[in-house]
Amino acid sequence: MPSSAAIEAQGLVKTYAVRGDKEGVRALDGLDVTVPRGAVFGLLGPNGAGKSTTIKILTTLARPDEGTAIVDGIDVLRRPDRVRRAIGVVAQRSGADPGATGRENLVLQGRLHGLGANAASRADELLARFGLTGAAGRLVKTYSGGMQRRLDVALGLVHRPEVLFLDEPTTGLDPESRAAMWEEITRLAGEDGMTVLLTTHYLEEADRLAGRIAIVDRGRVVAEGPPDELKGALHGDVVHLELAAETDPAAARSALQDLQGIRNVLVAGDAISARSDDGASAVPAILAALQTAGAPAASVTVARPSLDDVYLRLTGRRYSESEDLVAEGANRS
Ligand code: ADP
Ligand code: MG
Repeated sequence: MPSSAAIEAQGLVKTYAVRGDKEGVRALDGLDVTVPRGAVFGLLGPNGAGKSTTIKILTTLARPDEGTAIVDGIDVLRRPDRVRRAIGVVAQRSGADPGATGRENLVLQGRLHGLGANAASRADELLARFGLTGAAGRLVKTYSGGMQRRLDVALGLVHRPEVLFLDEPTTGLDPESRAAMWEEITRLAGEDGMTVLLTTHYLEEADRLAGRIAIVDRGRVVAEGPPDELKGALHGDVVHLELAAETDPAAARSALQDLQGIRNVLVAGDAISARSDDGASAVPAILAALQTAGAPAASVTVARPSLDDVYLRLTGRRYSESEDLVAEGANRS
Protein backbone atom coordinates (compact mmCIF):
# COMPACT_ATOMS: atom_id res chain seq x y z
CA MET A 1 0.00 0.00 0.00
CA PRO A 2 1.42 3.41 -0.83
CA SER A 3 2.24 5.61 2.11
CA SER A 4 -0.71 7.70 3.23
CA ALA A 5 1.51 10.76 3.55
CA ALA A 6 2.20 12.92 0.49
CA ILE A 7 5.81 13.39 1.48
CA GLU A 8 7.99 11.44 3.85
CA ALA A 9 11.64 12.34 4.27
CA GLN A 10 13.90 10.73 6.82
CA GLY A 11 17.39 11.53 7.98
CA LEU A 12 18.30 13.80 5.09
CA VAL A 13 21.94 14.89 5.16
CA LYS A 14 23.53 17.11 2.55
CA THR A 15 26.95 18.71 2.61
CA TYR A 16 28.05 21.15 -0.08
CA ALA A 17 31.70 21.26 -1.03
CA VAL A 18 33.12 24.72 -0.55
CA ARG A 19 36.48 25.91 -1.86
CA GLY A 20 38.96 26.57 0.93
CA ASP A 21 36.81 24.75 3.51
CA LYS A 22 37.69 21.10 3.97
CA GLU A 23 34.50 20.25 5.80
CA GLY A 24 32.15 22.08 3.48
CA VAL A 25 28.72 23.40 4.45
CA ARG A 26 26.39 20.93 6.13
CA ALA A 27 23.13 22.29 4.74
CA LEU A 28 21.02 19.37 6.05
CA ASP A 29 21.89 17.57 9.24
CA GLY A 30 19.40 14.73 9.57
CA LEU A 31 16.18 16.41 8.50
CA ASP A 32 12.93 14.47 8.99
CA VAL A 33 9.59 15.67 7.70
CA THR A 34 6.22 14.07 7.00
CA VAL A 35 3.61 16.01 5.05
CA PRO A 36 0.00 14.79 5.10
CA ARG A 37 -2.05 14.91 1.92
CA GLY A 38 -4.31 17.69 0.78
CA ALA A 39 -3.11 20.57 2.89
CA VAL A 40 -0.72 23.48 2.92
CA PHE A 41 2.40 22.54 4.83
CA GLY A 42 5.02 25.17 5.61
CA LEU A 43 8.74 24.71 6.03
CA LEU A 44 9.65 27.75 8.08
CA GLY A 45 13.18 28.85 8.78
CA PRO A 46 15.59 31.75 8.45
CA ASN A 47 17.74 32.17 5.36
CA GLY A 48 20.35 29.44 5.24
CA ALA A 49 18.33 26.97 7.35
CA GLY A 50 18.25 24.37 4.57
CA LYS A 51 14.77 24.88 3.08
CA SER A 52 15.78 25.12 -0.57
CA THR A 53 18.13 22.16 -0.22
CA THR A 54 15.23 20.10 1.15
CA ILE A 55 13.02 21.14 -1.77
CA LYS A 56 15.79 20.32 -4.27
CA ILE A 57 16.16 16.82 -2.85
CA LEU A 58 12.41 16.14 -2.71
CA THR A 59 12.01 17.33 -6.30
CA THR A 60 14.92 15.18 -7.60
CA LEU A 61 17.14 18.18 -8.42
CA ALA A 62 19.74 17.19 -5.83
CA ARG A 63 20.76 13.95 -4.15
CA PRO A 64 21.19 13.66 -0.41
CA ASP A 65 24.39 12.20 1.08
CA GLU A 66 22.21 10.20 3.44
CA GLY A 67 18.53 9.64 4.06
CA THR A 68 15.42 8.58 2.21
CA ALA A 69 12.51 10.42 0.66
CA ILE A 70 9.13 9.26 -0.62
CA VAL A 71 6.90 11.65 -2.56
CA ASP A 72 3.36 10.66 -3.56
CA GLY A 73 4.27 7.08 -2.68
CA ILE A 74 7.32 7.05 -4.96
CA ASP A 75 10.95 6.67 -3.88
CA VAL A 76 12.70 9.88 -4.91
CA LEU A 77 16.13 8.29 -5.17
CA ARG A 78 15.06 5.18 -7.07
CA ARG A 79 12.40 6.60 -9.40
CA PRO A 80 13.15 10.28 -9.99
CA ASP A 81 11.47 10.13 -13.41
CA ARG A 82 8.14 9.05 -11.91
CA VAL A 83 8.39 11.60 -9.11
CA ARG A 84 8.88 14.37 -11.66
CA ARG A 85 5.59 13.48 -13.33
CA ALA A 86 3.70 13.58 -10.04
CA ILE A 87 4.97 16.92 -8.79
CA GLY A 88 5.00 20.58 -9.70
CA VAL A 89 7.93 22.72 -8.70
CA VAL A 90 8.20 26.47 -8.34
CA ALA A 91 11.81 27.28 -7.55
CA GLN A 92 12.95 30.18 -5.43
CA ARG A 93 14.27 31.83 -8.60
CA SER A 94 11.79 32.10 -11.48
CA GLY A 95 12.17 29.57 -14.24
CA ALA A 96 10.10 31.52 -16.78
CA ASP A 97 11.72 32.82 -19.95
CA PRO A 98 11.64 36.62 -19.66
CA GLY A 99 12.02 37.01 -23.42
CA ALA A 100 8.84 35.07 -24.18
CA THR A 101 5.22 35.95 -23.42
CA GLY A 102 3.34 34.48 -20.48
CA ARG A 103 1.25 32.39 -22.84
CA GLU A 104 4.29 31.13 -24.76
CA ASN A 105 5.90 30.05 -21.50
CA LEU A 106 2.82 28.08 -20.50
CA VAL A 107 2.32 26.46 -23.89
CA LEU A 108 5.96 25.38 -24.04
CA GLN A 109 5.72 23.94 -20.56
CA GLY A 110 2.58 22.04 -21.57
CA ARG A 111 4.33 20.55 -24.60
CA LEU A 112 7.29 19.52 -22.47
CA HIS A 113 4.83 17.65 -20.29
CA GLY A 114 3.36 15.94 -23.30
CA LEU A 115 0.03 17.80 -23.47
CA GLY A 116 0.41 18.17 -27.24
CA ALA A 117 -2.59 19.89 -28.82
CA ASN A 118 -4.12 20.46 -25.38
CA ALA A 119 -1.24 22.68 -24.31
CA ALA A 120 -2.87 25.84 -25.66
CA SER A 121 -6.20 25.38 -23.93
CA ARG A 122 -4.49 24.46 -20.68
CA ALA A 123 -2.39 27.62 -20.96
CA ASP A 124 -5.50 29.77 -21.40
CA GLU A 125 -7.22 28.10 -18.48
CA LEU A 126 -4.26 28.86 -16.21
CA LEU A 127 -3.87 32.41 -17.49
CA ALA A 128 -7.50 33.04 -16.57
CA ARG A 129 -7.19 31.42 -13.19
CA PHE A 130 -4.18 33.52 -12.25
CA GLY A 131 -5.56 36.81 -13.57
CA LEU A 132 -3.07 36.96 -16.42
CA THR A 133 -5.38 36.78 -19.44
CA GLY A 134 -4.92 40.47 -20.19
CA ALA A 135 -1.13 40.11 -20.00
CA ALA A 136 -0.95 36.79 -21.83
CA GLY A 137 0.64 38.31 -24.94
CA ARG A 138 3.15 40.50 -23.10
CA LEU A 139 6.79 39.57 -22.60
CA VAL A 140 7.37 38.22 -19.10
CA LYS A 141 10.15 40.75 -18.51
CA THR A 142 7.49 43.49 -18.50
CA TYR A 143 5.49 41.76 -15.73
CA SER A 144 5.39 43.05 -12.16
CA GLY A 145 6.90 40.87 -9.43
CA GLY A 146 3.47 39.61 -8.41
CA MET A 147 2.50 38.75 -11.99
CA GLN A 148 5.78 36.87 -12.54
CA ARG A 149 5.29 34.86 -9.39
CA ARG A 150 1.70 33.97 -10.37
CA LEU A 151 3.00 32.82 -13.75
CA ASP A 152 5.65 30.73 -11.97
CA VAL A 153 2.95 28.95 -9.99
CA ALA A 154 0.85 28.48 -13.13
CA LEU A 155 3.88 26.90 -14.83
CA GLY A 156 4.17 24.46 -11.95
CA LEU A 157 0.53 23.43 -12.38
CA VAL A 158 0.40 22.80 -16.13
CA HIS A 159 0.41 19.00 -15.82
CA ARG A 160 -1.99 18.87 -12.84
CA PRO A 161 0.47 17.56 -10.24
CA GLU A 162 -0.60 15.81 -7.05
CA VAL A 163 2.03 17.59 -4.99
CA LEU A 164 3.16 21.17 -5.52
CA PHE A 165 6.44 22.53 -4.16
CA LEU A 166 6.71 26.28 -3.74
CA ASP A 167 10.08 27.65 -2.65
CA GLU A 168 9.53 31.09 -1.10
CA PRO A 169 6.53 31.94 -3.28
CA THR A 170 6.03 35.41 -1.82
CA THR A 171 9.55 36.61 -1.08
CA GLY A 172 10.01 40.13 -2.42
CA LEU A 173 6.30 40.67 -3.16
CA ASP A 174 4.43 43.73 -1.95
CA PRO A 175 1.75 43.09 0.70
CA GLU A 176 -1.11 43.17 -1.80
CA SER A 177 0.49 40.63 -4.15
CA ARG A 178 1.39 38.51 -1.16
CA ALA A 179 -2.21 38.44 0.03
CA ALA A 180 -3.38 37.46 -3.47
CA MET A 181 -0.82 34.65 -3.56
CA TRP A 182 -1.92 33.39 -0.15
CA GLU A 183 -5.48 33.23 -1.39
CA GLU A 184 -4.46 31.29 -4.48
CA ILE A 185 -2.35 28.81 -2.50
CA THR A 186 -5.18 28.24 -0.04
CA ARG A 187 -7.49 27.54 -2.97
CA LEU A 188 -5.10 24.98 -4.47
CA ALA A 189 -5.11 22.91 -1.31
CA GLY A 190 -8.80 23.51 -0.54
CA GLU A 191 -10.78 23.25 -3.77
CA ASP A 192 -8.21 21.30 -5.77
CA GLY A 193 -7.23 18.97 -2.94
CA MET A 194 -3.58 19.32 -3.83
CA THR A 195 -0.78 18.91 -1.34
CA VAL A 196 1.26 22.09 -1.18
CA LEU A 197 4.67 22.18 0.46
CA LEU A 198 5.92 25.71 0.66
CA THR A 199 8.96 27.24 2.23
CA THR A 200 9.02 30.64 3.79
CA HIS A 201 11.19 32.73 6.03
CA TYR A 202 8.21 34.88 7.03
CA LEU A 203 6.83 33.92 10.43
CA GLU A 204 3.51 35.54 9.64
CA GLU A 205 3.14 33.69 6.38
CA ALA A 206 3.68 30.30 7.99
CA ASP A 207 1.29 31.23 10.76
CA ARG A 208 -1.53 32.39 8.48
CA LEU A 209 -1.19 30.11 5.50
CA ALA A 210 -0.07 26.69 6.62
CA GLY A 211 -2.21 24.16 8.48
CA ARG A 212 0.96 22.54 9.75
CA ILE A 213 4.50 23.79 9.83
CA ALA A 214 7.94 22.41 10.45
CA ILE A 215 10.46 24.84 11.86
CA VAL A 216 13.85 24.26 10.25
CA ASP A 217 16.99 25.36 12.03
CA ARG A 218 20.51 24.58 10.81
CA GLY A 219 19.44 21.67 8.68
CA ARG A 220 17.09 19.99 11.15
CA VAL A 221 13.42 20.16 12.00
CA VAL A 222 13.19 21.44 15.56
CA ALA A 223 9.39 21.53 15.87
CA GLU A 224 6.42 20.33 13.84
CA GLY A 225 2.68 20.78 14.11
CA PRO A 226 -0.17 23.26 13.61
CA PRO A 227 1.08 26.79 14.39
CA ASP A 228 -1.49 27.25 17.15
CA GLU A 229 -0.40 24.04 18.83
CA LEU A 230 3.25 25.04 18.76
CA LYS A 231 2.37 28.39 20.28
CA GLY A 232 -0.03 26.81 22.75
CA ALA A 233 2.74 24.57 24.08
CA LEU A 234 4.27 27.73 25.52
CA HIS A 235 1.86 28.26 28.40
CA GLY A 236 1.00 31.71 29.65
CA ASP A 237 2.09 35.10 28.33
CA VAL A 238 5.41 36.31 27.08
CA VAL A 239 6.85 39.46 28.62
CA HIS A 240 9.32 41.20 26.31
CA LEU A 241 11.71 43.71 27.82
CA GLU A 242 14.21 46.03 26.24
CA LEU A 243 16.91 47.10 28.62
CA ALA A 244 17.98 50.70 28.98
CA ALA A 245 21.30 51.60 27.33
CA GLU A 246 24.43 50.26 29.03
CA THR A 247 22.50 47.90 31.25
CA ASP A 248 24.07 44.56 32.04
CA PRO A 249 21.78 41.83 30.64
CA ALA A 250 23.27 39.27 33.03
CA ALA A 251 22.24 41.35 36.04
CA ALA A 252 18.76 41.71 34.61
CA ARG A 253 18.50 38.01 33.99
CA SER A 254 19.45 37.00 37.49
CA ALA A 255 17.03 39.56 38.95
CA LEU A 256 14.20 38.05 36.90
CA GLN A 257 15.13 34.46 37.55
CA ASP A 258 14.63 35.02 41.27
CA LEU A 259 11.09 36.35 40.81
CA GLN A 260 8.17 34.11 41.63
CA GLY A 261 5.92 33.09 38.75
CA ILE A 262 8.52 34.03 36.13
CA ARG A 263 10.05 31.31 34.00
CA ASN A 264 12.16 30.75 30.91
CA VAL A 265 14.14 33.93 31.11
CA LEU A 266 15.97 34.29 27.80
CA VAL A 267 18.47 36.97 26.86
CA ALA A 268 19.10 37.92 23.23
CA GLY A 269 21.31 41.00 22.96
CA ASP A 270 19.73 43.79 25.01
CA ALA A 271 16.30 42.18 24.76
CA ILE A 272 14.98 39.82 27.40
CA SER A 273 11.90 37.68 27.33
CA ALA A 274 10.30 35.68 30.10
CA ARG A 275 7.08 33.79 30.55
CA SER A 276 4.42 34.17 33.17
CA ASP A 277 0.94 32.73 33.65
CA ASP A 278 -0.43 36.26 33.86
CA GLY A 279 1.98 38.63 32.17
CA ALA A 280 0.13 41.87 32.83
CA SER A 281 -0.03 41.42 36.56
CA ALA A 282 3.62 40.36 36.69
CA VAL A 283 4.88 43.56 35.05
CA PRO A 284 5.05 45.80 38.17
CA ALA A 285 7.14 43.23 40.05
CA ILE A 286 9.40 42.73 37.04
CA LEU A 287 10.05 46.44 36.60
CA ALA A 288 10.70 46.89 40.32
CA ALA A 289 13.13 43.97 40.42
CA LEU A 290 15.07 45.31 37.45
CA GLN A 291 15.22 48.77 39.02
CA THR A 292 16.54 47.33 42.28
CA ALA A 293 19.16 45.31 40.40
CA GLY A 294 20.39 48.46 38.66
CA ALA A 295 19.26 47.10 35.30
CA PRO A 296 16.23 49.19 34.37
CA ALA A 297 14.03 48.41 31.37
CA ALA A 298 13.46 50.92 28.59
CA SER A 299 10.28 49.24 27.40
CA VAL A 300 8.03 46.34 28.21
CA THR A 301 5.31 44.54 26.28
CA VAL A 302 3.12 41.58 27.14
CA ALA A 303 1.85 39.26 24.44
CA ARG A 304 0.52 35.82 23.76
CA PRO A 305 3.31 33.54 22.53
CA SER A 306 4.14 33.95 18.84
CA LEU A 307 6.05 31.69 16.47
CA ASP A 308 9.01 33.96 17.15
CA ASP A 309 8.79 32.91 20.81
CA VAL A 310 8.55 29.26 19.78
CA TYR A 311 11.70 29.67 17.71
CA LEU A 312 13.52 31.44 20.53
CA ARG A 313 12.56 28.74 22.98
CA LEU A 314 13.83 26.00 20.68
CA THR A 315 17.02 27.59 19.40
CA GLY A 316 17.97 30.18 22.03
CA ARG A 317 18.09 32.80 19.28
CA ARG A 318 15.60 35.39 18.11
CA TYR A 319 14.34 34.68 14.65
CA SER A 320 15.32 38.11 13.33
CA GLU A 321 18.89 37.64 14.57
CA SER A 322 19.20 34.30 12.83
CA GLU A 323 18.24 36.07 9.62
CA ASP A 324 20.93 38.69 10.15
CA LEU A 325 23.56 36.04 10.75
CA VAL A 326 23.09 34.44 7.39
CA ALA A 327 22.35 37.65 5.51
CA GLU A 328 26.08 38.35 5.80
CA GLY A 329 26.68 35.16 3.82
CA ALA A 330 24.63 36.74 0.98
CA ASN A 331 21.63 35.23 -0.77
CA ARG A 332 23.39 32.46 -2.52
CA SER A 333 20.37 30.33 -3.23
P1 ADP B 1 17.44 28.23 2.75
O1 ADP B 1 16.72 27.90 1.50
O2 ADP B 1 16.75 27.81 3.99
O3 ADP B 1 17.83 29.67 2.80
P2 ADP B 1 19.59 26.62 1.61
O4 ADP B 1 19.10 25.23 1.54
O5 ADP B 1 19.57 27.41 0.35
O6 ADP B 1 18.80 27.38 2.78
O7 ADP B 1 21.08 26.63 2.16
C1 ADP B 1 21.47 25.94 3.32
C2 ADP B 1 22.96 26.17 3.53
O8 ADP B 1 23.69 25.58 2.46
C3 ADP B 1 23.37 27.63 3.57
O9 ADP B 1 24.44 27.78 4.48
C4 ADP B 1 23.82 27.89 2.15
O10 ADP B 1 24.76 28.94 2.11
C5 ADP B 1 24.46 26.55 1.79
N1 ADP B 1 24.37 26.28 0.35
C6 ADP B 1 23.26 26.16 -0.40
N2 ADP B 1 23.54 25.87 -1.68
C7 ADP B 1 24.89 25.79 -1.76
C8 ADP B 1 25.81 25.48 -2.80
N3 ADP B 1 25.39 25.20 -4.05
N4 ADP B 1 27.13 25.47 -2.50
C9 ADP B 1 27.57 25.73 -1.25
N5 ADP B 1 26.74 26.01 -0.22
C10 ADP B 1 25.42 26.04 -0.45
MG1 MG C 1 15.99 29.10 0.00
